[in-house]
Amino acid sequence: MSAPVPPRHQLLVGCSVVDVETGAVTAGAAVRILDGEIVDLGPEAEVRERMPLAEAPVEVDLGGAHLLPGLLNMHTHFSLALPGTRGAEIAGFDAHALALYMADGARRTLMEGVTTVRCVAEKDHADFALRDAIAAGRAVGPRILTAGRALVCTGGHGHEGSDTLECDGAVGFRRGVRSQIKAGADLIKVMISGGIAGEHEQISTPQLHRDEMEAAISTAHAWGRKVTAHAGPASVIAEAVALGLDCVEHGYQLTPEVAAAMAAQGTALVPTLVVTRCGAFFDELGVPAWMQKRSLDAGPRHRESYEMALEAGVTVLLGSDMPPFWHFEGTSATVRELEYMAEFGLGPVKALAAATIEPARWLGVDALVGSIAVGKRADLIAVDGDPTADVSALRSLRWVMADGVVVRDDKAGVSRG
Ligand SMILES: [Zn+2]
Repeated sequence: MSAPVPPRHQLLVGCSVVDVETGAVTAGAAVRILDGEIVDLGPEAEVRERMPLAEAPVEVDLGGAHLLPGLLNMHTHFSLALPGTRGAEIAGFDAHALALYMADGARRTLMEGVTTVRCVAEKDHADFALRDAIAAGRAVGPRILTAGRALVCTGGHGHEGSDTLECDGAVGFRRGVRSQIKAGADLIKVMISGGIAGEHEQISTPQLHRDEMEAAISTAHAWGRKVTAHAGPASVIAEAVALGLDCVEHGYQLTPEVAAAMAAQGTALVPTLVVTRCGAFFDELGVPAWMQKRSLDAGPRHRESYEMALEAGVTVLLGSDMPPFWHFEGTSATVRELEYMAEFGLGPVKALAAATIEPARWLGVDALVGSIAVGKRADLIAVDGDPTADVSALRSLRWVMADGVVVRDDKAGVSRG
């Protein structure tokens, strides 16, 4: 299979274009695309007026849909193997089976409108091969930015799998960072506390010494890579934020003080609200009772943490931790997370930004993706209903364009998935 070549010149019409930075909606809009790049947008009549006569575009009528930029999911694992029966099956895959499994997840993810992902711990460096195959058109999936293996202390959170690398001491963590960058990492992920999925730890267990955190963060920064940390308790997060940490995953137990420090330092939060609210998903995977209990019990405090972050003005970014495409409570895990983010205080317009332009900025790819603007790549999704009024409109996702190629069109029966 070779990558499909999009029509060189396309005009999307019959749509309302959503500006995720302002929440403004332009009805009766058109978007002109040339070689996969957005070259014009605005009211349809104006775009037609400005259109060069020489080359007629292929017109795509979106039938009154709202057009959004493709979603960015900042906490993804295509090789996730949780404790339990399903996880054991995945953990037992050989390299070939694992690569195919991950490619299938990537394809499903794109079909759910997620056009960019940030992978934050993947097995055996298969993520680098997947990222490069998608970029070269040999596999179907979202743009991938990836941390490779997450760095963890001996016996620390996630040490059981080949998606982590055990390091100890400052020298060990420096070497760990360099080894992931050598393999191709776009960013660094480090586990600085316990979590939900570790049997011998608590969410509150600190796992790295200060010199280890300092070594990981300063080495990554010297090489121009950002660092995100799996972290629960406030005291551990406070220490890492003071050392220049760029992003916190989960943040189950924030306090107003640490939230204020994050806001001041510019440290983002990927709250992954669904992971403490997904009993049905755990049941489906055969996740053991102890883990389900720890997860669901953490839910109320987790929500409180998120609310503290919003109150303090921390930049929040959408990440599901669950496979981004997973069908869950009537939609994808990505859209369910978006709904929780909006409902728990962010509101629809800022939630849309947290799923698009804000992650693009964190990743440094906002010149390319994250909003519908001239000069950006045509990563676009169409939904029925106005998502700036209610993000649940994304449940009606029915059309996906990636880099100028229509990969899903439910009305036309098109699915590259
Ligand atoms: Zn995770």
